[in-house]
Amino acid sequence: MTVKRKRFIAGAVCPHCQSKDTLALWSDNDVESFICVKCGYTQQQTDGTNAEKRPLPEHIIGIFHPE
Ligand SMILES: [Zn+2]
Repeated sequence: MTVKRKRFIAGAVCPHCQSKDTLALWSDNDVESFICVKCGYTQQQTDGTNAEKRPLPEHIIGIFHPE
């Protein structure tokens, strides 16, 4: 049951190449990561302690469904 599902983050901007709508998000062992399909930039999203570095707009959080 370790299916990796990717979803694109509408409106998200890659912190590396500044491209929009190129970030794909997936969850691996409860760690959310994203990759920019344009430049290959990847970043893990650990828990909320690094919120200040989180590149995603706050309203994006609304699409997450933990269960
Ligand atoms: Zn990029």
